[in-house]
Amino acid sequence: AVEAGELSVAYQPIVRTSDLTVISVEALVRWDSPEFGRVSPADFIPVAEETGLIHDIGKFVFQTACQDMAEWPGLKVSINVSPAQLREPNFANDFAAIARRNAVVPNRFKLELTEGLLVRNPTIAKRKLARLKSMGFGLSLDDFGTGFSSIGYLRQFPFDWLKIDKSFVAELGTNPTSNALIQSMIALGDALDIAVVAEGIETAEQLQLLRLLQCEYVQGFHLARPMPASEVTALLARLGDSRKIVEDSSRAIERTS
Ligand code: C2E
Ligand code: MG
Ligand code: MG
Repeated sequence: AVEAGELSVAYQPIVRTSDLTVISVEALVRWDSPEFGRVSPADFIPVAEETGLIHDIGKFVFQTACQDMAEWPGLKVSINVSPAQLREPNFANDFAAIARRNAVVPNRFKLELTEGLLVRNPTIAKRKLARLKSMGFGLSLDDFGTGFSSIGYLRQFPFDWLKIDKSFVAELGTNPTSNALIQSMIALGDALDIAVVAEGIETAEQLQLLRLLQCEYVQGFHLARPMPASEVTALLARLGDSRKIVEDSSRAIERTS
């Protein structure tokens, strides 16, 4: 699929909760297979990690993002990075070289990592993350709350962002424990000076609750779906300088019903 050009990259906006300004987009790989149709990354990324193809896929996504973001001045782009990629000794140099070749500065990227590698090999992880950070890459801890979610990891590792997993948001408003947990994750982010993003916002109610909880950033179908680069360009053109998304509640209702 990599060689046959069946992969592409979609981008989903991340917005400031208070005024819905688009501040960045997350790059999400897509595979349209002539044989299987669209295959979810949740299904093929684990296989790519096992077979080592994740390295080629990772470079493809990064290279594509570097080209696409030339059209989006000032917008940051989040890139998902598998533990297997980070374990590869040349990862930091390879990514830095690709960015340089495309004349994009590393501080326009946020690398999204999960806890896997930090848990299995904290000493090596610390060194690698420090290196990426010193090169200018931003670091984001993805799916927070699903793994070990230790305060220790947040203190020890130089993360700038923390992403609250969508499973918490899904229960917001119905499960009081979720509200309390989200609230404490936001407080943790504030205390450690780490920006907090909540993922998976599907309804106006969830957005409203996250506003009340003072969650700084949100991402989810209610605000914008993952879309091809050309649609991001068109969206930014439509939004103008303010880059404020207009919440479309009629569409949100349609999506969740
Ligand atoms: P993730 O990094 O946590 O990405 C967020 C996932 O949530 C995406 O699924 C996105 O489409 C989905 N999502 C966004 N808003 C909503 C919402 O409101 N409701 C629901 N139910 N889902 C929402 P996607 O694109 O299927 O990706 C799944 C996972 O695959 C990602 O989770 C990430 O772990 C992995 N992945 C995707 N692209 C890449 C990549 O380029 N490299 C690597 N290593 N992993 C990737
Ligand atoms: Mg992610
Ligand atoms: Mg996530």
